[in-house]
Amino acid sequence: MAKLNENFGNLKKNYLFIEIAKRIKAYSEQNPEKAKRLIRMGIGDVTLPLAPVVVEAMVKASREMGVKETFRGYEDSGAGYDFLREAVSGYYKSFGADVSPDEIRISDGAKSDCGNIIDIFGSGNVVLVTDPAYPVYVDSNIMNGNSVIFANSTEENGFAAMPDKSVHADLIYLCSPNNPTGSVYTTEQLKEWVDYALENNAVIIYDAAYEAFITEDNVPRSIFCIENAKKCAIEICSLSKTASFTGTRCGYTVVPNDLIQKDSKGNDVRLCEIWGRRQGSKFNGVSYPVQRAAEAVFTPQGQKQCRENIKYYQENARIIGSTCDELGIKYTGGVNSPYIWLKCPNGMDSWDFFDMLLNEIQVVGTPGAGFGKNGANWFRLTAFSTHEKTSEAMERLKELLKK
Ligand SMILES: *Cc1c(COP(=O)(O)O)cnc(C)c1O
Repeated sequence: MAKLNENFGNLKKNYLFIEIAKRIKAYSEQNPEKAKRLIRMGIGDVTLPLAPVVVEAMVKASREMGVKETFRGYEDSGAGYDFLREAVSGYYKSFGADVSPDEIRISDGAKSDCGNIIDIFGSGNVVLVTDPAYPVYVDSNIMNGNSVIFANSTEENGFAAMPDKSVHADLIYLCSPNNPTGSVYTTEQLKEWVDYALENNAVIIYDAAYEAFITEDNVPRSIFCIENAKKCAIEICSLSKTASFTGTRCGYTVVPNDLIQKDSKGNDVRLCEIWGRRQGSKFNGVSYPVQRAAEAVFTPQGQKQCRENIKYYQENARIIGSTCDELGIKYTGGVNSPYIWLKCPNGMDSWDFFDMLLNEIQVVGTPGAGFGKNGANWFRLTAFSTHEKTSEAMERLKELLKK
């Protein structure tokens, strides 16, 4: 009999979005007419299409694949074509982070690498995750049999948990701008985390999937904008939210050459080497047309076109934020992120608030409880809808809460 990985039994039962879908389905079956006016501001998926230069590059590369002379099979290294790794390196340079092409590996997205990176770490690590957090960090560690401790992101600290120097950690997951809270770490705050990691000989796994949404000056776009971060951090990034690649699939992970840990015999191990070995054994790279499409994102024209989409979402975030201001609802996010994280009125539980919005005004958001215990009375709205629907949803919310 095949023995199973029984760690799966330790995962939380209902995945958040499955439960949400179930409640929407039940509501729609009972209220078919009202369900027609549903406005979805729940799932964190983009809605605007790929930029024209990106499509052009993907079409051109696809045609090359159909011609004997330009056809490409397996990529030599599987780490990503030089043209794309150089483009990503140049992008890092544009906001003051020094990342060389050989420190970058192209992936099929940030979610896979957030999970896969665990392969290079052993068992028994103290894994620190902020609460609330993107569920992948906790779930993938539970699947591997690791236990997790939490750093609390709360109203008091602006949903930006800071290190507790009396607690030791070996692995630290940080996400800024944050999903779900939209909060960010400033340069000073991130430096505190880097110092803490260095003191603990810990490794930070930094999820920068929303870096392109940053508008404020003192908020770093990469952890590698912080001095000495290359000695303690891995950064995982994605074109999903930056350039509408959620269905196209492309991201990149930076494991710096200077990131070294000791093995149990006291020998130095460069993490980029074992990560390269892991990927070499289990991953065969991203398709050529997608890598050409990704390259186009980093051209001046690509940047201009992608920024227009991001500006569109940012306007939605502004509409949601100003509605909350008007209603006296506390929230974080929106300024450097496509998420608004708001406090449920009158101390309501987040699933009750979810049901209320669904039943009373047919607006769907995401209950904060799904992201951790500190989200129990908080609620996430996304800025990925249209201006029209966002405004309409906010009008309905005003009417409901002013009653
Ligand atoms: C959307 C998102 C990602 C991106 O995942 P992909 O697999 O690249 O689509 C990564 N991290 C967080 C926190 C996200 O919300």
